Amino acid sequence: MAAGLQRVIDDAPDGLVILDADGVVRYANRAGASLFRCGATELVGAMLGFPLAPEETTELELPHTDGSWRIAEMRMAETEWNGAPAYVAQLRDVTSHKALEKRLELSDKVFRNTQEGIVVTDGAGHIISVNPAFTAVTGYLPEEVLGRNPKVLKSGRHGEDFYRALWETIAACGQWQGEIWNRRKNGEIYPEWMNISAIFDACGSPVYYVAVFSDISLVKQNEERLHRLAHYDALTGLPNRVLLTDRLHQALAHAQRNGTQVGLLFLDLDRFKLVNDTLGHRAGDQLLQEVALRLESSVRAEDTVARLGGDEFTVIVPNLHGPAGAANVAEKIIEALAAPFHLQGQDIFATASIGIALYPLTADSPESLIKHADIAMYQAKEQGRNNYLYFRRGHDEQSRDLFELENGLRHALERGELRLVYQPEVEIETGRIVAVEALLRWKHPERGDIPPSEFIPVAEDTGMIGPIGEWVLREACTQNRDWQDQGLPPIRVAVNLSVRQLRHVRFAEKVAEILDETGLDADWLEVELTESTVMLHAKETMGILWQLKSMGIRLSIDDFGTGYSALNYLKRLPVDTLKIDRSFIEGLEHDSNDQAISDAIIALGNSLKLRVVAEGVETEHQLGFLRQHHCCDAQGFLFSTPLDGDALASLMARRIH
Ligand code: C2E
Ligand code: MG
Ligand code: MG
Repeated sequence: MAAGLQRVIDDAPDGLVILDADGVVRYANRAGASLFRCGATELVGAMLGFPLAPEETTELELPHTDGSWRIAEMRMAETEWNGAPAYVAQLRDVTSHKALEKRLELSDKVFRNTQEGIVVTDGAGHIISVNPAFTAVTGYLPEEVLGRNPKVLKSGRHGEDFYRALWETIAACGQWQGEIWNRRKNGEIYPEWMNISAIFDACGSPVYYVAVFSDISLVKQNEERLHRLAHYDALTGLPNRVLLTDRLHQALAHAQRNGTQVGLLFLDLDRFKLVNDTLGHRAGDQLLQEVALRLESSVRAEDTVARLGGDEFTVIVPNLHGPAGAANVAEKIIEALAAPFHLQGQDIFATASIGIALYPLTADSPESLIKHADIAMYQAKEQGRNNYLYFRRGHDEQSRDLFELENGLRHALERGELRLVYQPEVEIETGRIVAVEALLRWKHPERGDIPPSEFIPVAEDTGMIGPIGEWVLREACTQNRDWQDQGLPPIRVAVNLSVRQLRHVRFAEKVAEILDETGLDADWLEVELTESTVMLHAKETMGILWQLKSMGIRLSIDDFGTGYSALNYLKRLPVDTLKIDRSFIEGLEHDSNDQAISDAIIALGNSLKLRVVAEGVETEHQLGFLRQHHCCDAQGFLFSTPLDGDALASLMARRIH
């Protein structure tokens, strides 16, 4: 071959490889060898395994040493090599061309198949391309919009300002993104999430605009549904507690700014359970729905009626200038509910009890408004239902639980739910029962036994401690007299007193009356007051305690060691007994501090010639300590738990015999 021709072949941009009839490489030019990443001489002699099919164009994928593949187009022709028949393969590297093709293909696929609508316009705003999703969302076929301006989609919902701002943003940032309302071909208006990008030429002028959008009407619907579910009651469609609280916050903020008041009505249907139980839940639901309608129609537009659940409703009455406005609404509601409800062919009468709380008069937050109106509602129910009542200060701390407790306590006496149990106080030296402490028990019909620590404070707060305390005194004296009448050795009965009882002007007289009535000698009655009671109310109790003393009644200081022992007061009081608080006895086994305190109290009592009783003695070890330190008496589970009158009588009888 001529040298010139040889060079042309060697340097040709396409790869040329000559193979003999067996497919063995006889010659390769530079481009051909480089496709295989080797030098031309290295390739000679190799078997490449090409299909020896002349005239066909095939595509080969050639492995690259870096792990990628190169794509070559190959055409084969028959030729001769050194006189023998051979083949020449012409190879063209089409890798980058193929990649571009693939990318375009992919873009096209994306363009066609994406869920998002795509519109491409030229720099002047004429639509030059839309995808199938565009048609699916807008209803317009490509031929209906090509060449036109996207304005055809305008919903009319946005003003000129909106579009001006949009185009200004695109001009400044090359991009705009946001929610936009458009109109489908069928006229329907729908929300889109839209992203518009400008594509600029080399000089920086926009040549294309590409808008990608998705129909978010479903998202919006779900969002609204969620909002409804979260803020409205499903049965009545009224705002629920969440929305109520939200509106209350707004109403309070508004009232604060304008110096007005907000009323909150808390409404509970009377005997709703009866409707549910006798007519069924469907009727109950229907009643609630109709009550909701009547409530809404008896309030002003700016008032909010909400359902808290069950048969509980609330009404926010904003912009009040005094309490009367809220009462007016309550009266209107009671009136509106007065007409019968027609449920399943029957006339049902539903009344409601309403509690009213006022901001800022009786509550200062949405939470306390609801709570206080609720409490007032319970009081309204107590006072005979079908009425309304304002919340009054002084009940702030009381939860509904407390209310139930209080209401229950009112009836506890008359229903005979109260009783006394008696716990022996034993002389440590001899083991003799020298006294018993009367302890109050309340068996609540639903809640069972309620500990005195829970209901005594309620009785004290509500004044119920007066009649209850009197009952305890009478009962304890009667019982003690009874034991004596049974022939048991006489013992003292200790009765716990509250400071409220002592405040009663004629308390001493009352006690004298009871002793008289029951025939118990005053010597056998002891009263217990806690140390803190005595010390905190020293001045007011001093007189009455001396009065009791003069009658022959003993005084015991309960829970001693926990109060504010002002010893000079102690010496001026007619005290007979100190009861070491149970908490110190409890620690006797391991707490040296408790040991020191108990020891000190015993020593103090002994030096003042007072009887000292250790409370809550449970173990022999504790008893041993007390004996060793010359404590006189002890009380606790080690000797006996509190027992009823009869059980205590048998215990004493066993001890005698
Ligand atoms: P308190 O006067 O200190 O009564 C002693 C309390 O300790 C009683 O509790 C008694 O059951 C309990 N106790 C006795 N021995 C032991 C023991 O070994 N271990 C333990 N862990 N506890 C023991 P209770 O009956 O629950 O009474 C609690 C408080 O309620 C009384 O404390 C008293 O302050 C008050 N209380 C009870 N009855 C009346 C009453 O009729 N009127 C008044 N105003 N308060 C009463
Ligand atoms: Mg006591
Ligand atoms: Mg005590």
